[in-house]
Amino acid sequence: MDDSAAIRREVVETLEAAGDFETPHECADGFAALRMMAEYRPDVVLCDLVMPICDGVHFLRLRAAKPELSNVPVLMLTGAADQDTKVDVLDRGAADYIMKPFHRGELLARVRVHFRLRSLHEELEAANARLEELSCTDGLTGLFNRRHLDRLLDVEVSRHVRYGTALTIMLVDIDHFKGVNDTYGHLVGDAVLREVSQTLKQMTRKADVVCRYGGEEICILLSNTPMAGATILAERLRAAIEALEITSVMRISVKVTASIGIAAADGIGKGCTAEALLANADRALYRAKSEGRNRVIAAPADEASRVVG
Ligand code: GH3
Ligand code: MG
Ligand code: MG
Repeated sequence: MDDSAAIRREVVETLEAAGDFETPHECADGFAALRMMAEYRPDVVLCDLVMPICDGVHFLRLRAAKPELSNVPVLMLTGAADQDTKVDVLDRGAADYIMKPFHRGELLARVRVHFRLRSLHEELEAANARLEELSCTDGLTGLFNRRHLDRLLDVEVSRHVRYGTALTIMLVDIDHFKGVNDTYGHLVGDAVLREVSQTLKQMTRKADVVCRYGGEEICILLSNTPMAGATILAERLRAAIEALEITSVMRISVKVTASIGIAAADGIGKGCTAEALLANADRALYRAKSEGRNRVIAAPADEASRVVG
C-alpha cells in the first residue's frame, strides 16, 4: 500500500522476482487496504507511512479495531528516519519498519522473517487447540475425563442452586469387572470398557456429558433432566449394556452387566454441592450392587436431604 505508483511497482517487482510469493495485491491508501485484507487474507502487509486520504498511522488504528485482521504482520515503509516515528509505528501495532529507499534484499529478508513468524504462530494455535482437547479427554475410551467432569459439575451445580434448573447425575459401574480381567486378560477388559463407553455415548444426547469417572466407572451428567427422566434413561442404558455381545481382538465374546446409581440435585436442597451429589449417586450405586447388581437405584430425596442437612 503506497500512494506512489513507482514505489508500488518496485515492491511488487522485488517480491515477484523472489519467485516464492503469490502475486501481491496493491492499493494506494489505508481504506482500500482494509477492504483488500478482508477479501484476500494476506500473510504480510507492506504499508507506506505518508499517504493522502488514509495514512499508515490511521490504517494501523482502524486495523486494531478488527480482531480478524490483527494477526497479519504490517511492515511500515517509511522515509522518515527519526527514532520517534519508528517507535510510534511499532507501538501502534506495526510488526517492523523498512527505510525508504529500501534495499531489495533487506525487504525480502524482513518479509520472510514475518512470514515464518506467522506460520509458527498458526502452528502454535493448532497445537494449543489439540492440547485443550487432550486435556479433557480420556485416552482409553475417548470419553471426557474426570478433570472435565469436575469443572462442568461445579458450573452445573451453581446453575442449579442459582436458578433451580433440574440436574441429575448417573454413576455407571460395570459388574464384576475384575472377573473379566482375571478371566480374559486386560486387553479384553479394555475392549469391554471401550464398547460400553461407546454405547453410553451413542444412547445419550449431545448435551449430556459422559465421563470416565474412575477405572470402570462412568459418570453421566444430565442437565435440565429431572429424576423421572433420568431413571427411564438409566434403565434403557442398563438394558443396552446387558444386551451387548462384545467380541474383541481374540474373538472372545464377552457379556457384562452394569449397576447404576442416580442422584438429583433437588433431592439435596439448598446446600447442594458437587461432592454431595456424587456421594448420593455413589450411595445409590452401592445399594444397586448390594441388592444384586444389574439394576438402577435412584437416591431417595429424603435420605439425600437428611445426609446433607
Ligand atoms: P463390582 O460388581 O462390585 O463393581 O465388581 P468389580 O470387579 O467391577 O469391582 P472392583 O471395583 O473391585 O474392580 C474394578 C476393576 O476394574 C479392577 C480393575 O482391574 C478394573 N479396571 C479398572 N480400570 C481398568 C482399565 O482401564 N482397564 C481394564 N482392563 N480394567 C480396569
Ligand atoms: Mg465394577
Ligand atoms: Mg468400581
